[in-house]
Amino acid sequence: MIKVNDNFCRLSANYLFSEVARRIDEFRRQNPGTEIIRMDIGDVTSPVCSAAVRAMRQAADDQSRTDTFHGYGPEQGYEFLRAKIAEYDYKVRGVDIAVDDIFISDGAKSDIGNIGDILSCGCKIAVTDPVYPVYVDTNVMAGRAGRYDGKRWSNIEYLPCTAENGFIPPMPSGNPDVIYLCYPNNPTGTVLNREILAQWVDHARHHNALILFDSAYEAYIRHDDIPHSIYEIPGAKDVAIEFRSYSKTAGFTGLRCGYTVVPRQLHGVGDDGHAVSLNALWKRRQCTKFNGASYIVQRAAEALYTVEGRREINETIDCYMRNAAVLLDGVRAAGLDVYGGEDAPYIWIKTPDGISSWEFFDILLKECNVTGTPGSGFGPAGEGYFRLTAFGRYEDTIKAVERLKRFNVK
Ligand code: PLP
Repeated sequence: MIKVNDNFCRLSANYLFSEVARRIDEFRRQNPGTEIIRMDIGDVTSPVCSAAVRAMRQAADDQSRTDTFHGYGPEQGYEFLRAKIAEYDYKVRGVDIAVDDIFISDGAKSDIGNIGDILSCGCKIAVTDPVYPVYVDTNVMAGRAGRYDGKRWSNIEYLPCTAENGFIPPMPSGNPDVIYLCYPNNPTGTVLNREILAQWVDHARHHNALILFDSAYEAYIRHDDIPHSIYEIPGAKDVAIEFRSYSKTAGFTGLRCGYTVVPRQLHGVGDDGHAVSLNALWKRRQCTKFNGASYIVQRAAEALYTVEGRREINETIDCYMRNAAVLLDGVRAAGLDVYGGEDAPYIWIKTPDGISSWEFFDILLKECNVTGTPGSGFGPAGEGYFRLTAFGRYEDTIKAVERLKRFNVK
């Protein structure tokens, strides 16, 4: 029989979301007809804006005519989109990103998972805890994670983010080569201000570490002192790769488009000690394993940068953030400590004393018919916390909050 990549066998089963679904199904079987409000799902609910839909129709027409047909596109993405990104996502914020530093993808998850292809298998990893599970699992697949003790992987340094430290990750002690930062954060909904982020850039510069900065939720930032990009911090281009996505910015979870910035001044080192451009390696990797995001989807993404496109996506994000405000107020009024939700679409609740994340899940489901995601599923430091998302419909959010207030969850 064929030998498999045994690292895959070391992965724990995707317990979190399947267990959430199992408990909901079980509850439905026992309580037929009960209306459950789902606040566990991380997908958006609003449709794609009309500017993007119109651009896709036009692009589909392009594909139907010989003179405008587009076959294989550039692996790095079309320049028409990369130029808009450089202008509107970076230059307007005073950040100079070259078009050649930008790689269009079919979403942030692929790039975050694939970036490990260009890094040594021996790299030491650090993640904030709780964490978006993709960072950990992809390193397990690559054989970098070590042994699992039921909670943590031996070769991964976990940086706990809890109410006690204001959800600000402590600096790593183990000299990791790669540090994953995600801000605004999934699952805690918290952010890092400019000063703190500058400390991370400084740390990476002094310790020759690479920061993998996931800013999939940057469009939700409301406060001026919160950087939208790590490159707003001087010196970050020498130490950081940034991942972005149109999924939560513009409802592209089903269309699939995002991008990654790998600045040309970013270098690693080869086995013989010579400096290697990470931009060149990533380009080589993409040219070998990826044939580009579709022309139609890239035209849709381009349309998001028009005046109409920007207005439409901002309106949708404002609606989600209105949900977040309703959730924050409501959960506080119910007497619980709650975090995040001001610059992110996630609300992070501290469960009442002595109640675990999963116990809280069961209580909310049974007593309020509301679901969320147990924090312990995102890492050991997530135990005792619970995530609600603001991606639902406004009416459902109001209804969920009323149920929470009526029931004495504390
Ligand atoms: N990064 C974070 C932190 C996320 O929460 C998600 C999706 O939920 C992604 C990346 C994936 O985004 P995409 O849909 O672009 O693959």
